[in-house]
Order: sequence, then C-alpha cells, then structure tokens
Amino acid sequence: MSALHYWNYPTEIFCGPGALESLAQRCTLLGMRNPLLVTDPGMLGLEPFALLKSHLTQADIVFSVFSDVASNPSMADVAHGVAAFKAGRHDSLIALGGGSAMDAAKGISLAAVDARGLERFEWSQVMAHYPTLADFPRLGLPPLIALPTTAGTGSELGREAVLTQTEQNIKRVISHPELLPATVILDPLLTRGLPPALTAATGMDALTHHIEAFCSPLYHPMSSGVAVEGIRLIRQHLVDACEDGQNMGAREGMLIASAMAAVAFQKGLGGVHALAHPLGARYHKHHGLLNAILLPYVLIANRETISVDIGRLARYLELEQPDFEGFLAWVLVLRKRLGIPHSLSEIGLDAGAADWVGEQALADISSSDTNACALDAADYSQIFRNAVQGVLQGVQA
Ligand SMILES: [Zn+2]
Repeated sequence: MSALHYWNYPTEIFCGPGALESLAQRCTLLGMRNPLLVTDPGMLGLEPFALLKSHLTQADIVFSVFSDVASNPSMADVAHGVAAFKAGRHDSLIALGGGSAMDAAKGISLAAVDARGLERFEWSQVMAHYPTLADFPRLGLPPLIALPTTAGTGSELGREAVLTQTEQNIKRVISHPELLPATVILDPLLTRGLPPALTAATGMDALTHHIEAFCSPLYHPMSSGVAVEGIRLIRQHLVDACEDGQNMGAREGMLIASAMAAVAFQKGLGGVHALAHPLGARYHKHHGLLNAILLPYVLIANRETISVDIGRLARYLELEQPDFEGFLAWVLVLRKRLGIPHSLSEIGLDAGAADWVGEQALADISSSDTNACALDAADYSQIFRNAVQGVLQGVQA
C-alpha cells in the first residue's frame, strides 16, 4: 500500500423504469440543441427507438439519426458518422443501443473535433503520453448522453471506444476522458425486448468485466469493491433477466451491474478480453459470447495466482463450495443454464490460427499488465486451443 495510485470516478446516472423521462431536461441543461442520434440499424424498428423518438419530438428537440453502424463498429463507420455530424451541423450526440452504438458515437465525437484523434488517443499512444486523465489535452468534445439497450458492455460509463480497423482485422481501443458520456440513462424499459440469447451473452460480458477487474493485480480497492458487488448482482439477476425479459427488477439489476463493471474495470481487464478482441475482429462473433465461452479456460490458466482472492469472492457470494473450484463450478453451471456453448468449435472456430491468436492476444491492451498473471503468446495459444476443444485442464469431469 506504499505506492502512489491514481483513481478517478465517473459521471451522473439516472436509473430506473421511466428514467428516459429525464432525457429532454438533460438535453436542455447540457445545451444540446441539435443532437445526432447514433444507433445501430437493427434498433430502428424496435420499441426503444420509438420511445426515444417520441420523447424527443414531444420536447421539441430537433435531431437526426445516424444508424450506419456495424455490430463491431469500424473506423469507416466513424468517418461516415463524422460526415453526418458535420453535414447536419450537430452540436451533441445521443447514443442508443449496445456497445456498438455507444462506441461509434464516442468515435464520432472525437474525430469530428480532432481529425487525428483516433490515432493519437489509441491506447498505445495514451500509455506513452497521457499517464493520468489530467495529462490529456482538453478538446471540448460535444456532449454525449448514453442510453444503453443492453446490459453488458458498460461503455456508457467508460472513457474508451473499441473500434475495428477492418483492413487489418484489429480492434483499436481509443481513450480520452471527454469520451465519458455527460449523462447516462439506465432505463430497464429500454432493455425489455432484448432476446434471451443476447441478454445472456451481454450479461456474461458484464460478468467477465467484473471478474477480470477483480483479478487484476493493479491496486484499486474501490474498483475491487465495485466488482464484488457487481458479481453478486449478476448472480442474483442474470438468469431471471434471460428467462423473463419483462422482469423489470432483473433487467434493472443487470443494467446497474453492467454499468458498475465499467467502473470496476478501471482496474483493467485480462486474458479473456485479450483473446476475445482479436477473435471478434477476425471471426465477427459476438464479443459477449466469446467472453462467455473463454472465461473458464482463462480462470484455469490464472488459477494459481487468483485462487485465494476467488475464495474470498466465493464466500461473499455465499457459494456452496466457497473456493476456486466452487466458483469455477458456478460459472460453468451458469453458462449451461444460459445456453452458452462450452467450446469455440461449437460456434465454428478451429485451432488453425492458434499462433496468430496467441500473438494478437499478447499485444492486446488487456494482457499488458492487468491479467492476473503474466501470460506469453504460447500460453494464449494454448488457452485458445483448449477453448476450441473444450478442454478444462485439471478439472474433474
Ligand atoms: Zn467486454
């Protein structure tokens, strides 16, 4: 505890069924006269989009819609969004959707103001030049209000945007303190139409964020505390949210847990995300689904380093067997109950690219110094092979 630490906590949050009602007032208070509403094309025919549109229209807020956003938003999507932002002379942004809409909106906000922003605030540059939030140049980015329609990414409480560089199949993490939305609206009414499979995959993403943050060796006890309670909320609510999408208590619990995860992962992520990022970019599989499948294999690779802490967590969760094995068993049972496949081969991946995957995972931001223990490219390749084949090393069947 003798070292110096840098911590920072986020933004204003309106939470609960009907929290959407606060949107028009927040727009006014933030001086948003002409926002660009960023969403993904699948959202256009759905209830949350209709609710939001009618709310803005009733409040006489002029806006236009940009929905040319892929499920893994690309730098090209952002460029198109910047063109729309400038053409419409917009002064602000509203993001409605999952991580893709929010990350695209953040990318648009940055690139509209700073033409080289996506390069100079890419994570490796940030690590080299901006060690704390106070070191970043002030850009005066347009205000952003985020309304998540999934409970998983936590992007609404993050200062990062994950964008795909399509030509190289690489995911880039862009970071700037002003990417943090000015206001976050967590309204479970916006998530009630999310199908069970997506509820499960996004919820497992949130769970993975909490677990990887909790296991990160960085010293940040506030985030560790948030992670522990976030995991408890997910244990309480994820299955109910999947089995009954209209259960507003469960939906709200998952929205809160998901947002909390972004606070927790200020401590960093780990090997699950280090592997899921390149796999998502190369194979175009859902990020949360990849995490859900990979999670037990990475837990096992980290077992020696994390077993004491996981035992403490398991006791807080009141698991029947309060140790590493009991926690792993809970994760495996939860995955099964949610209908998550056990291996990557079940979603069509084979181990042919294991060497590439290992190298890419090692180069990923999440493996830098925040995975629980040091893993090299060969370790990542082996974890990937295990996950393809469904081999849980050292675990009794
Ligand atoms: Zn994630």
